[in-house]
Amino acid sequence: MDKRKELKVAALENGTVIDHIPAASLFHALRILKLDKVNNQIYFGTNLHSEKYGLKGIIKIRDRYFKNEEINKIALVAPTATIIEIKDFYVVRKENVDTPEIVENFVKCFNPKCITNHQAVPTRFKVISDKGELKLRCHYCEKITTKDTMEFK
Ligand SMILES: [Zn+2]
Repeated sequence: MDKRKELKVAALENGTVIDHIPAASLFHALRILKLDKVNNQIYFGTNLHSEKYGLKGIIKIRDRYFKNEEINKIALVAPTATIIEIKDFYVVRKENVDTPEIVENFVKCFNPKCITNHQAVPTRFKVISDKGELKLRCHYCEKITTKDTMEFK
């Protein structure tokens, strides 16, 4: 970690930094975490230079930590993301998101005819990786939901 980045992270007293978000996914990540509807202080940047990933986005949110289920959502749109939790200016947790193998309940199946869109059946998908892009195969109708058609409940 270079010095400057350390300072940027330390500027947050308590809260979470989501780093290494693919630049193209930044606004998607804000939306799925519903960060457009909270009162916490949020800083975000996009199209920032990253040695590892080319262009990246970053979100810093004050006084907010994410549940595992929310981190799974981040993993779907930003598989390269790093979650950094800050308490009293210290990094107390820093880890890369883990891509789940199975996604249950929080994504809608994009197939309008799917049983999960008509009956009280929770959605269930197998996560598949197609040339680095994550896709979801529905357990019921076997249709593939891609990033572009992914809607969260
Ligand atoms: Zn389906």
